[in-house]
Amino acid sequence: MKTTVIKSTLIEVDNLKETLKIINQAKKEGRKALLEPESKTICAEYGIPVNKFKCSTTPQEATEFAEQVGYPVVLKIVSQDIIHKSDAGGVIVNIKNAAEVAAGFQKILDNVKKYKSDAKITGILVQEMAPQGTEVIVGAIKDPQFGQTIMFGLGGIFVEILKDVSFRVTPITSEDARDMITQLKAYPLLKGFRNTPPADIDALIRILCNTSKMLGDNPEIKELDLNPIMAYQQGAKTVDARIILE
Ligand code: ADP
Ligand code: MG
Repeated sequence: MKTTVIKSTLIEVDNLKETLKIINQAKKEGRKALLEPESKTICAEYGIPVNKFKCSTTPQEATEFAEQVGYPVVLKIVSQDIIHKSDAGGVIVNIKNAAEVAAGFQKILDNVKKYKSDAKITGILVQEMAPQGTEVIVGAIKDPQFGQTIMFGLGGIFVEILKDVSFRVTPITSEDARDMITQLKAYPLLKGFRNTPPADIDALIRILCNTSKMLGDNPEIKELDLNPIMAYQQGAKTVDARIILE
């Protein structure tokens, strides 16, 4: 059976191999929270843009990948026991050379050990550092009454303090997605304001629609958190992704 994901390409449902593999593997291991690289692989399969990443187990492997994608890079802990990585000292941004990769690799392991001594560590994620953009968030939760709902908002204080977010029950159309974006009080920021350049609204609409598609195909997804997504004048990049299964 074929289905369209809103992107320039068609994705066949039967070809969503990685998504099924990842979800089945997590179920088999009794894990509810997918790791960042797993969540991002699923995002990528649904046409949601993510920056290049690799989970490494040695500083050598981390450096090799960093040299391949180019500096600066970001290092992050990959552990099923660490949900909020920065809280554990598990994120270092703006790593500029091989020496910093090696030092950062060790620093993250030390921080995490201090934070949770028995955390099971899968590796250290190396990823391209995304340039600063306007930070937005796409989220999803399963409401007992309405089912899977999708959320959109701007990052930081807009979500946490002002609660300036919009919700829709999935599936959504691209018109729904556009409404979700334009109804925010902070929408003028996305249109461009003073030294904030305008964001690529169509790219954000595609992310919302593709997320809705992912939720529809995978009813076992209980929560999703793309936080933050960097929105640019052209395109957008998801720099952190977290998927929780039922
Ligand atoms: P957490 O699990 O704490 O939410 P994140 O992956 O969101 O961890 O990283 C924390 C912060 O670091 C992000 O909010 C973002 O500002 C920054 N960050 C993370 N990854 C990248 C990246 N690839 N490029 C640029 N900034 C990043
Ligand atoms: Mg985050």
